[in-house]
Amino acid sequence: MQRPYNFSAGPATIAPEVLQQAASEMLDWHGSGMGVMEMSHRGKEFISIYEQAQADLRELLAVPKHFHILFMQGGGLAENAIVPLNLSRGGTADYVVTGAWSQKSQKEARKYCNVHIAASDEARGFTQLPAPAGWQFSPEASYVHLCSNETIHGVEFHALPDLQALGSRAPLVIDFSSQVASRPVDWARVGLAYGGAQKNIGPAGLTLVVVREDLLGHALPVCPSAFDYKTVADNQSMFNTPPTYAIYMAGLIFQWLKKMGGVPAIEARNIAKAKLLYEAIDNSQFYVNRVARDCRSRMNVPFFLRDESRNEAFLAGAKAAGLLQLKGHKMVGGMRASLYNAMPLEGVQVLVEYMREFERTHS
Ligand code: PMP
Repeated sequence: MQRPYNFSAGPATIAPEVLQQAASEMLDWHGSGMGVMEMSHRGKEFISIYEQAQADLRELLAVPKHFHILFMQGGGLAENAIVPLNLSRGGTADYVVTGAWSQKSQKEARKYCNVHIAASDEARGFTQLPAPAGWQFSPEASYVHLCSNETIHGVEFHALPDLQALGSRAPLVIDFSSQVASRPVDWARVGLAYGGAQKNIGPAGLTLVVVREDLLGHALPVCPSAFDYKTVADNQSMFNTPPTYAIYMAGLIFQWLKKMGGVPAIEARNIAKAKLLYEAIDNSQFYVNRVARDCRSRMNVPFFLRDESRNEAFLAGAKAAGLLQLKGHKMVGGMRASLYNAMPLEGVQVLVEYMREFERTHS
């Protein structure tokens, strides 16, 4: 059965092979007589699932030994609090604001520390990235936070800044919720990366945190124990019951990614998908994307019909053509096509053909 192509920004499409495997193991995982949801997180069956998922993710993302991989809960929004609770030491943190998600991050952090805005693109409507050479760091900042891919505004960092070279001694914290596993990470430039799983690496309910060893152990006394990175690391993410089924699903996705050739191969496919869609938009008089070309997101492509009165017809036709969840985020309107790892190139080809046909019949 050919399923429709699903362009949701998250929770998002998952490869059918992965869903089929999960379905086939639903009642009995590997002859254990139990489904994964029914297993104790401390039993040998689940521990083996957890360890395999950790090892596969470490390999896929080339995570160095001096970083811990934590499986937490609460999503990206909870991390907006958990990061300052763990890293700010009640002092100052620098925030780079490039869209809705980093905006939310800095607002939440104000509950726990002094926030200094090192740079913002708000005045330009979040259509560009402020050039790192112009960022204003505070000398006492305990970390610098940015969102490496803005899911709503469609702005992506194609290279992470080298903070030391720019004059900051603080570790870089990135929200890579909608970028994780779509491309390699330059860990030499990162102190901590976090993200919800529900876009590229699994179902909602699992939050991934990759944190450098030296950043553990500095949590504020008010930090909830379950959110203290050191407590989580010391207990192999099992201080409290982890989201076991979501970890299992993420593990299946990591296996699938390895079969696809790993992150470099999936990155090449992601580049091809994004190129196809942006070219179709740029070569038409009918559609428009307003993000500067050098920072357009490969994962989330917001676009607009120049004549917005045709939006409903566009979406209804798309659905009939087997192209789902293309409606843009309410904050910016228009359309948005999310092209996460599990979206095949054919899905984007069908979308582009649909867009051309709609343009032909409606201009
Ligand atoms: N950061 C980014 C970049 C996101 O895209 C999202 C969700 N779309 C979040 C944070 C919030 O994640 P959650 O809803 O899992 O808390």
